[in-house]
Amino acid sequence: MQNLPFCPIHSYQILNLLELSDSDARLICCSCLLNLIKTKNNFDSSKIVDLVQVYEHPENTFQFTDVKEKTSLVQFLHEQIEQLSVIKQQIEELLNQLLEWKQEIQQQKTSFLNIIKQDEFKQNFQTLANQEKNIKNEMIQQIQNKFYNYFESIKAMNQVATQKDLENLEKLNQNMTQKVGNCKKFKKIFKSINKLEQNYEKIINPFWCELINTIERNVKRQINQKKIIYKSQENGLTFEAIRKAIIGKQNLLWFFKSSNNQGTEFGAFTPYIWIEGDHSGTTEANPSFLFSKTLNQIYPIIQKMGKCTQYFNPQHILFGGTGNSDQDLRINPDFKSGYSRLGITYSAPVGVDTSKYSSYLLGALEPNVIECEIYQILFE
Ligand SMILES: [Zn+2]
Repeated sequence: MQNLPFCPIHSYQILNLLELSDSDARLICCSCLLNLIKTKNNFDSSKIVDLVQVYEHPENTFQFTDVKEKTSLVQFLHEQIEQLSVIKQQIEELLNQLLEWKQEIQQQKTSFLNIIKQDEFKQNFQTLANQEKNIKNEMIQQIQNKFYNYFESIKAMNQVATQKDLENLEKLNQNMTQKVGNCKKFKKIFKSINKLEQNYEKIINPFWCELINTIERNVKRQINQKKIIYKSQENGLTFEAIRKAIIGKQNLLWFFKSSNNQGTEFGAFTPYIWIEGDHSGTTEANPSFLFSKTLNQIYPIIQKMGKCTQYFNPQHILFGGTGNSDQDLRINPDFKSGYSRLGITYSAPVGVDTSKYSSYLLGALEPNVIECEIYQILFE
């Protein structure tokens, strides 16, 4: 570590930070930074350079350049190492706690062993162990009967154990359940891992991440879980299987994979309950959108057209439209036929002809769906 000079204002702190602005830069210390955070309204932490960190990890310099996206993997690895180390420590703490609890239970051993008549079991076991290697069938019969009788005799605990022993057992069970339930260490680990998963998805599948962010932004709620409720490769690519999965459910995220252009992928998110044979949607605060995974594009709903956000019946799955065969996306029960015409209910990108069926979303005029997955989004 280098010897850095002290801050002229805070003589006990070193000048290890740099505050960047458009016109100049200022050397500051941790206390200066604290003041900035407290006093500056639009404080931007990305403008603070940790000089020591950059000195020791030069790869971090990229975040101040215009190629930072190209080096996000370096940042990702760095963060993963940091976060996983924290999780490792959390897991170690939890392990210690679990061992402690286990010991606590073992200290109650005597009352346990009484209840299960362990002496009797031990006797039977000893009889078995005392036999010669080539034991006679008759003896086997005898011993297995003894074991049978033993296990029969302890089956109904309220006939074997004393009331007091049973009460102790109940108390211990309640006590432990409460301790486990109150232990924040479990939740902490789950939360950390969840965050790790999000960062992982961001790197591995940036578009999936954008979908999730868009849903959270549009719905104004945090997503808790993404539960897969239908997968054509397991449940079969049929309308009946889809009907079973979706009717009565809301907040569904749809993915379609087509054979067009070796695998065009598109889909939709709508928050409304799927009702058989009826349109759902609202013309205000409607967070629905169609998307093209292939083109990395999202097509938000046109609010005033939101009445026909979605529709399902045994003849077609529809997204958008006005009810006059002009849907933004239509898929028929053979999954091959249907069409897309963006711009009716879902906004079309500039340059897309919205006056007729188009291959823009589907990669061809017909959907030719070969796979479908549906997720149910659960919010916090
Ligand atoms: Zn200072």
